[in-house]
Amino acid sequence: AGPVVIIGAGHAGFQLAMSLRQHGFSERIALLNDEGHLPYQRPPLSKAYLKGTGGPDSLMFRPEKFYHDQNIDLVSDRAVSIDRAARKVRLASGTSLDYGHLVLATGARNRLLDIPNANLDSVRYLRTLDESQSLRDYIGPGQRVVVIGAGFIGLEFAATARVKGLEVDVIELAPRVMARAVTAEISEYFQSRHTSAGIRIHLGVQVTSIEGDGSKVTGVSLSDGRHIKADLIVVGVGVLPNVELAAEAGLKVAAGIVVDEHLLTSDPNISAIGDCALYASPRFGGSLRLESVQNATDHARCVATRLTGDAKPYDGLPWFWSDQGPDKLQMVGLTTGYDRVVVRGDRAQGAFSAFCYKSGQLVGIESVNRAGDHMFGRRLLAAHGSITPEQAADASFDLKRALT
Ligand code: FAD
Repeated sequence: AGPVVIIGAGHAGFQLAMSLRQHGFSERIALLNDEGHLPYQRPPLSKAYLKGTGGPDSLMFRPEKFYHDQNIDLVSDRAVSIDRAARKVRLASGTSLDYGHLVLATGARNRLLDIPNANLDSVRYLRTLDESQSLRDYIGPGQRVVVIGAGFIGLEFAATARVKGLEVDVIELAPRVMARAVTAEISEYFQSRHTSAGIRIHLGVQVTSIEGDGSKVTGVSLSDGRHIKADLIVVGVGVLPNVELAAEAGLKVAAGIVVDEHLLTSDPNISAIGDCALYASPRFGGSLRLESVQNATDHARCVATRLTGDAKPYDGLPWFWSDQGPDKLQMVGLTTGYDRVVVRGDRAQGAFSAFCYKSGQLVGIESVNRAGDHMFGRRLLAAHGSITPEQAADASFDLKRALT
């Protein structure tokens, strides 16, 4: 026992503090927060918030009073090192915190662009409230933006920017959008929707340099020799997990902070959760590092349960969503390594799902504007169930029957 110190007050850290109290944990909880805002939600930063809906308060998980009422010490500081022998975390302010158990919920940070002129003022990223706020204040009709990277965040930003009247070009090295995350069926649908909205998507090319005039961005050069004019560049080329604190403390680190199926690091007094954690998954076999709200919050719940006396291996079912313009994409399961995709619904009507199979077993479902299929998938896959590809393709097959 003893106090729990949580490094990072994002989705994972906040959920852990709250779940510990819900489970009756009565000792000290220190939640380290280095962002200068009350803990907040990230998904709206590239969606409603960026569009201009609501003020910063609308993003906060809870008002300040909640932390007082729950006796959670929200410490505005940054952890700089961990002394595992003394069980102490040293903070940037020079003070330190003692822990009985330490939880690393340090998340991830933007992968930075490493090309000429990438440090100009109008080269922006989108991970934090401050970054979203400055983009929200900055973007307006008639401006030209080049978005580097056609992943979820790049495309969500592009769709919002277009609605706000900007000229938008998206540059992506892969041959299709969201290539690492979704099936070709879903990529094709979103590519055509964004193109119809007036976004120009350039695939199979790379930005080789940014052109500037003094501190101002004027455009980009592409690997195929073309130039595109721009006033603003938004970079969405992925993130890097924040593993340095763990590595410097001698914990095992690979493509994330290595944890076992209980989310424990190589030190039994230290756990790691959320975007920073590379966890052993009995469900999927092998190690996974996921970046989603579901992953962060389910990890947190698992650790809260263990720290209050009921240790169970983590068995969360991954799910995710992305809102792009008027379309909602929802995913459940792990759609990697599939060998067959069956489409259910109507692509032309913009409401369909891609059911992904591996050796005849359903491994994941990607749905566009078909929330029912997504919810079905969450229930079926959580129970390790499956339906055949023929049933998935048959519009008259009642999915609910497979759940009984
Ligand atoms: P984070 O939210 O990154 O929080 C980690 C916190 O730790 C940060 O505040 C960081 O500053 C802090 N920290 C790091 N090091 C230290 C230190 N040494 N001392 C103190 N504090 C430290 N997911 C979805 O499922 N659906 C979506 O639609 C979706 N949209 C997204 C849109 C955007 C723009 C972004 C950026 C992400 C989106 N995500 C979405 C992903 C989701 O937000 C992340 O997976 C989630 O935030 C991970 O939570 P986390 O707590 O692990 O990490």
